[in-house]
Amino acid sequence: MSDAVERLAQVKDNIGRAMQAAGREAGSVVLVAVSKTFAAHDIRPVIEAGQRVFGENRVQEAQGKWPALRQEFPDLELHLIGPLQSNKAKEAVALFDVIETVDREKIAAELAKEIARQGRSPRLYVQVNTGSEPQKAGIEPKEAATFVNRCREVHGLAIEGLMCIPPADENPGPHFALLEKLAHEAGVDKLSMGMSGDYELAVAFGATSVRVGSAIFGGR
Ligand SMILES: *Cc1c(COP(=O)(O)O)cnc(C)c1O
Repeated sequence: MSDAVERLAQVKDNIGRAMQAAGREAGSVVLVAVSKTFAAHDIRPVIEAGQRVFGENRVQEAQGKWPALRQEFPDLELHLIGPLQSNKAKEAVALFDVIETVDREKIAAELAKEIARQGRSPRLYVQVNTGSEPQKAGIEPKEAATFVNRCREVHGLAIEGLMCIPPADENPGPHFALLEKLAHEAGVDKLSMGMSGDYELAVAFGATSVRVGSAIFGGR
């Protein structure tokens, strides 16, 4: 068994325990295995072990490894979790099943155009910069509900949830709580939050998906 397969089992166990402790319903948290920087031969054993949902942060990198894996395993679900440039909207709509990083008007407009053109509709999340960090992508918390509404009303996009990456040097709990509150205000019910260091805490705060990379695949 590969190390990654053993660690996958451990992570799934931990999620199960965190769900039970938080009184979360079985099946209410999806594990997104973040495979960025890892090659197809590292990923394949994890797929063979039953994992079907994966996250990548770069469109171009994902294009290099996922089309072949998808031919082999047609029921995979691929999430874009990294910043999206508007000139990559076409490729992103063609490849991903979920795009978690909608965070500005221009991207919303480009996605709407490509969705209409390609007849393919990835599920969409709005990324929120819960720590208002200048270097980080995401919409400001106070603008989140308005932006979700504009995505719906101006661009005709169905937004399914919110996503956040809390500041690395802060307790993530308050950020998870803020994302939950903003989702409620915006009228969406999916919450993508929690990574290798804090996914169990995120489950306690209501995450409906956690994005776990290094705890499965090892250090990058
Ligand atoms: C890389 C990445 C992750 C996974 O991080 P780990 O700490 O390795 O689990 C989750 N979310 C996003 C947006 C990432 O870029």
